[in-house]
Amino acid sequence: MGPVPKPLIAGNWKMNGMRGSLAQIKEIAASNMLASGKFDALICVPATLMHSAALLTAHTPLKIGAQDCHDRENGAYTGDISAGMIADSLGSHVIIGHSERRTRYREDDALVRSKTIAAHKSGLIAVVCIGETEEERSSGRTLDVLRYQLAGSLPDGATGENTVIAYEPVWAIGTGRTASIADIAEAHRFIRSELCKRFDSEGDRMRILYGGSVKPSNADEILHVENVDGALVGGASLTVRDFLSICSAY
Ligand code: PEP
Repeated sequence: MGPVPKPLIAGNWKMNGMRGSLAQIKEIAASNMLASGKFDALICVPATLMHSAALLTAHTPLKIGAQDCHDRENGAYTGDISAGMIADSLGSHVIIGHSERRTRYREDDALVRSKTIAAHKSGLIAVVCIGETEEERSSGRTLDVLRYQLAGSLPDGATGENTVIAYEPVWAIGTGRTASIADIAEAHRFIRSELCKRFDSEGDRMRILYGGSVKPSNADEILHVENVDGALVGGASLTVRDFLSICSAY
């Protein structure tokens, strides 16, 4: 086993947040907890807020990211944004392959991989999401699904520097249900071993976040599971107090 990567607490605001919400970004960025340097913190805001949020946090430890990108640099793709545009707006990270996009927009592993390559080309850190559905878990296929998703979604150029994995059981996202500690430990151990098989020592450096109804009441226990290097937080990231309370696990 290699050195333990520095944890990352990442918030996903999804389609929430108006300009008035920038006050929350400012408050998180100013927290002493972030200044401790024990973990990295990131908020993935809607594209409309990205540049303003990035300017507000430019000299703070809080990073700002996007929630998706197109896999092409530019072109006739109405409504989409490219990785280059995110970098140009001073975003540093982008979530790719979130289950809401895999399901609603039928994004498959090949597209996730190609978006991840686009993110890397623009110098962004890709937060690549994987996770099983309830049906896949109940039929005993969780680890197979994770194996295929990792193999198909990650490009050969993935490193500990440019890629973060988010393990998010689909049935635990936004539902208030979390996976059991034993299931989280098993999934993260498996993901780590798959990463190390393919990427050697880089596999040890890639952060593996847990996501799925992480909140102040369960964060401490989840974040201390072996191979859990942080969390991807949806609902609870919309409240400054809850987000910082989750961070306080470190
Ligand atoms: C997410 O959006 O990635 C997520 C995990 O949401 P929630 O924390 O609300 O379950």
